[in-house]
Amino acid sequence: MTKDANPERVLTQTLGYPRIGKDREIKRALERYWRGDIAAEALMQVFWKVAEVGWQAQLSRGIDRIGVGSATLYDQMLDWSVRFGLIPERFQSLTGLARYFAMARGVEGIPALEMTKWFDTNYHYLVPEIEARAQPVPVFDDFLDLVSRARGVLGSRAVPILIGPITFLTLSRLSDAFDATLEALLPHYSTLLQALAEQGIQEIQLHEPALVLSGAERLRGHYERVYAKLAESALPLNLVTYFDDLGDAYHWVVDLPVDTISLDFTRGDTLALIEAHGLPADRTLAAGVVDGRSVWRLRAERVGALLEKLKSAIPENTSLRISASCSLQFVPYTAEREAALPTPLRGVLAFAEEKLNELRAVVENELDGWDQAWDVFHAFAPADETIQGRVAALAPEDFTRDSPYKLRRPLQVALPRLPTTTIGSFPQTAAVRGHRARYRRGEITREAYESGIDAFISYTVGVQDGLGLDMLVHGEFERTDMVEYFADKFTGFAFTSHGWVQSFGSRYVRPPIIYGDITRPLPMTVREFSVAQALTEKPVKGMLTGPVTILNWSYPRTDVSRHVIAYQIALALRDEIADLEAAGARVVQVDEPALREGLPLKREHWKAYLTWAVDAFRLATGGAGPETQVHTHMCYSEFGDVLEAIDRMDADVISIENARSDDATLRELAAYGYGREVGPGVYDIHSPVVPDADYIEAKLRSFIQHLPPEKLWVNPDCGLKTRAWDEVLPALRHLLAAVHRVRAGLDAEPARAERGE
Ligand code: GLN
Ligand code: ZN
Repeated sequence: MTKDANPERVLTQTLGYPRIGKDREIKRALERYWRGDIAAEALMQVFWKVAEVGWQAQLSRGIDRIGVGSATLYDQMLDWSVRFGLIPERFQSLTGLARYFAMARGVEGIPALEMTKWFDTNYHYLVPEIEARAQPVPVFDDFLDLVSRARGVLGSRAVPILIGPITFLTLSRLSDAFDATLEALLPHYSTLLQALAEQGIQEIQLHEPALVLSGAERLRGHYERVYAKLAESALPLNLVTYFDDLGDAYHWVVDLPVDTISLDFTRGDTLALIEAHGLPADRTLAAGVVDGRSVWRLRAERVGALLEKLKSAIPENTSLRISASCSLQFVPYTAEREAALPTPLRGVLAFAEEKLNELRAVVENELDGWDQAWDVFHAFAPADETIQGRVAALAPEDFTRDSPYKLRRPLQVALPRLPTTTIGSFPQTAAVRGHRARYRRGEITREAYESGIDAFISYTVGVQDGLGLDMLVHGEFERTDMVEYFADKFTGFAFTSHGWVQSFGSRYVRPPIIYGDITRPLPMTVREFSVAQALTEKPVKGMLTGPVTILNWSYPRTDVSRHVIAYQIALALRDEIADLEAAGARVVQVDEPALREGLPLKREHWKAYLTWAVDAFRLATGGAGPETQVHTHMCYSEFGDVLEAIDRMDADVISIENARSDDATLRELAAYGYGREVGPGVYDIHSPVVPDADYIEAKLRSFIQHLPPEKLWVNPDCGLKTRAWDEVLPALRHLLAAVHRVRAGLDAEPARAERGE
């Protein structure tokens, strides 16, 4: 009997793979395409090549069921919007790639789709917008083509990945009722399944991560109806969930009429659910034991024990697969290339390729001696008793500023009404990046590097002064990335050379790896702040990234809890703020764009997270003097759920993403009764469109409907690093023109009132 024909053999499975290219080929090709340097055909060549390299990597390691369809030019949710024909009215004059990228990034006069976090990851997807009574005409050609190419490489190992209908709609913006929209969408799924069956496909993955959310229970009837309908197709269905356990929904989800169910065993407690409720007979269970979201090597001892218990908890006729817990898109391609990392650390890293090896090792029982690498690592990882002691000794007063908002606010900088500022970064031009790269490669001295940075700072301060902004920034030219910059200056963090993962579209990040205790040996931002402040009378903000964002955008160590890591970072930032104050800073901004995204998927865990996350921010900023104005900035999320937490952060001013969500955030803050100052973004910096003054003026006038002008700041939506100077300059000029018009109107009003008009 051949191995494959053995029914006892445990199969391996993946749920998606990195899709940006080992050398960021997709990003490079996209940028060239957008500049008009290459044609669509050349772009697609790169796309196919990257997809195929991913398939080959999985095939060569003998993965049995390989999820295909995660490859994308920009975002998978956008791909499915387009495939289902869910094209909002405003894009309908466009076609093909022009329309695709307009939906992703906006074009002159046509705003992009909204973008938001993918569950609790640092990936952002484009929110499908389904208009009222939409009569979509689906076109699945590109997907069928992708699948047929995959079959050409992988044969029957290729398992198409579909986003499940209920998750798709849960994550969409709907105009009509959920039921009606689902009813309209469902036949298209059946059509697609039919087309895939005709291609000879033998299994379909239906990804329904929304099943792990607290709201799953309310949709139970829909899931049951939808899956009964989809089960009519001849294709075996693999219902895939991840990012948490199924919680209360477990007992009915496992009864849905599917052949295979894929569960995440790395988050939540799936094993306990199975032990408590059992598993229906004749099922295939794909156990996601290889963590798709951590960079750490599998712990053989733990996985071995887990699988032992699992086997005794499931019916004997259950066929078991070993799976990645979720798509591997959340980890980089391979740790093998990270030659610069210390060997003991490299020995316990596992990126996508290593995780494929782990899948094999688990099913082939090759785990003897596997954990020795962990012993070597533990003997090596940095430990610092001072910081451990400081965290252990924290008292309640360390988390609170000395003076309450009402008392401290009058002591802080005085500015005109509707003060103008920016979020921090200014264009990271080729010149800026080249300058940093030359220093990194050792081609220029530190003095030459710093004087170059200072020239960028001085230009940027001059521009802001010249435009007439009220509160300035230095521009963040010394920073590759808002987390990497700080992590590089702390102990306890390691950096990869090639460890890129997709944040959204063509924007990739290289999350640092936290592997030991965190301390701040030297000041991190004081030099650049001082250079900028010396150039102007206007207040310059000291710019820091908050503790929760640094944590959430890194790969954390797993031997201490996340709040301890956050407090260690917070203490380092607190020391930095003291140094900035000593250097004359009147304002500091501590960005927490990632605070919201760290929210656990299940509501019952929110409170615990928000408590320590907000405490970490308060610990970082709590030492600031009353006359120091503390700003924070948040973006890319819906904030309605965390208003209380935002309030408890006790920042004097918050600038917040707003432009892509139709003032929703602002309205929520106003309705909540938020009492401190707010700078809702007046335009979307992620779009290349330059807003005109009328647009910004209209925005400001709408803001004033919600919050009194005394509480409002005026700023873009986020940092300007991804934009070009010839976009930034007119945009800010228009912003200031709009503010002057609105201020003039406000000044005129009391005068009219005095005249009794
Ligand atoms: N200060 C940062 C910047 O302007 C904030 C970036 C962010 O919110 N993602 O670039
Ligand atoms: Zn932002």
